[in-house]
Amino acid sequence: MNKTKIDWATMSWNPLTGCRHGCPYCYARRTAHRFDKGLEDPAPLSGGLHVLEEKIKGTPYPYGFEPTLHRYRLNQPERVEEPQTVFVCSMADLFGKWVPTSWIAQVIDACLRAPQHRYLFLTKNPARYLELDHLALLPHGENFWYGSTVANRDAAAMYPMPWANINTFWSMEPLLEPVAMGEAEGLPQWVILGAETGSRRDKVIPRREWVDQIAAFCAENEIPVFYKGNLREYFPDLPASMFPWEV
Ligand code: SF4
Repeated sequence: MNKTKIDWATMSWNPLTGCRHGCPYCYARRTAHRFDKGLEDPAPLSGGLHVLEEKIKGTPYPYGFEPTLHRYRLNQPERVEEPQTVFVCSMADLFGKWVPTSWIAQVIDACLRAPQHRYLFLTKNPARYLELDHLALLPHGENFWYGSTVANRDAAAMYPMPWANINTFWSMEPLLEPVAMGEAEGLPQWVILGAETGSRRDKVIPRREWVDQIAAFCAENEIPVFYKGNLREYFPDLPASMFPWEV
């Protein structure tokens, strides 16, 4: 686990790296390719998956952005005594369709072995949460938070929110267009709002009215909002950010 610059967590932990969603704005892919040494996996799993039992010296991403389970990192949470808010898999989508259920179960087991921390998961495939819940593999503890990326209207419309007894949040980052939260099937307990970073040619700069509309809806529905620093660069007068475990 490492200290993180991500402003809504204190540490990030990447037992899995690599992702196949192909988002054009992905910073993780750019980072992984920067360290990619083009190494050949002597024993790849079917489906182009990789497992590393030991760290490979000189690169944290020996197989680039291909899905890789770093098994040697699974004991990291239990080795950090001081409670942290941990962003799990900032360099992957742990709940992507291509990720074996056994890998997810190993990551969740590692979290359960270190209950002093708060774990924040984030996916673009929230349907996988449902599948895992049906298999009784998804912890419902207070320190587990299940997030979904909702960057546009489509994502909001597809997000299934069936549970009353589980912590959920939306990461609306990067906010790419106005999102009418009221049209979703269910509402989260927390919203993170952020802008696209980097110098991509087609970069979308969020409009103030998109942000204000979401903020007003959240206020009406008592949903705390966290405004990321990259959004404050455009709108410095945004209200103070809130964490749901502090309100
Ligand atoms: S889901 Fe996240 S990690 Fe995967 S491609 Fe998109 S931005 Fe990158």
